Amino acid sequence: VAALIQEKSQMALTMIVRETGRVPSLATILVGVDPSAGAYRRSIVRTLGKMAIRHVPVDLPTTLTAEEFSATLRRLNEDPDITGVLVLMPLPAHLPAELVLDHLAPLKDVDGITPTNAGRLHLGMPAIKPSTPEGGIELLDHYGIDLTGRHVVVIGRSNVVGRPLATMLTLRDATVTLCHRQTRDLGRLTRQADIVAVAAGCPGLLTHGMVRQGAVVLDFGVNVVDGSLVGDVDIPKIGHLLAAYSPVPGGAGPVTAMVLARNVIVAAYAALGERIGPPLELPAAGFGPPADSGIGD
Ligand code: NAD
Repeated sequence: VAALIQEKSQMALTMIVRETGRVPSLATILVGVDPSAGAYRRSIVRTLGKMAIRHVPVDLPTTLTAEEFSATLRRLNEDPDITGVLVLMPLPAHLPAELVLDHLAPLKDVDGITPTNAGRLHLGMPAIKPSTPEGGIELLDHYGIDLTGRHVVVIGRSNVVGRPLATMLTLRDATVTLCHRQTRDLGRLTRQADIVAVAAGCPGLLTHGMVRQGAVVLDFGVNVVDGSLVGDVDIPKIGHLLAAYSPVPGGAGPVTAMVLARNVIVAAYAALGERIGPPLELPAAGFGPPADSGIGD
């Protein structure tokens, strides 16, 4: 699936380089050292390398103040050589994620987290969409899993995975139940689902007795257990019941990284038109600046 997304985006990348004379670039900000953020960055770097998109690492010390962090974001917003910015999580406790939401320019927000992109997504308007849930939808579409009228139970309500996924699914005519840590009797809900999407960061969460025969499961979980990478789904216990599932590793992760790379190209086109207006799809052939939607950002 990732290779297909790459193939479909390559022409648009070639055209934007020709049009602007610049190779799109992604700045990834890492504050301090975090093993999971470091691993995610390495997978992004590998994927950007396949697409010939430039990576600009921005490594900052944990002694950084909130003021200095916001100033870094504003500097990258104004840098014409930077197309997109991704802040790797988790941030140290003294740097709340709201700083990113408040200071990152929507046109460079390649993970669709700022109020402009999140709001536009929730209103059904063209938006730069969070790469993980968008990758999940790509997986379901690729394998022909119909969403219309299907009951999808999403576990996890974060701003980067669960909540935008629930929105994307409702926009695709699915019926969605959004669950979280305070949900009572999770199994009663997941047993009713045609599709279960898990993004909780809790190994073995979806297990025996929690899915019905023939269900489809999307596993976004990334956990290290005894030195091995595992998801949130207990595949040894429930795999035999499922019609299809995305494995960890090798499922949602590589598709997420490729969708992020595609979002850098989307941001390059958005910058050209100076707005997040339609069309946000990448051109397959022919090229013109985005049409004036009348919706400025
Ligand atoms: P988060 O910690 O921000 O949110 C976790 C959500 O899961 C919360 O809403 C919480 O209420 C819910 N949750 C946790 N434990 C639960 C439980 N026992 N029962 C019900 N709900 C529970 O995490 P996040 O950033 O959304 O990431 C979730 C998982 O997805 C993590 O494992 C993360 O590493 C992974 N992730 C994967 C990708 C990818 O590319 N595949 C990208 C981002 C995040």
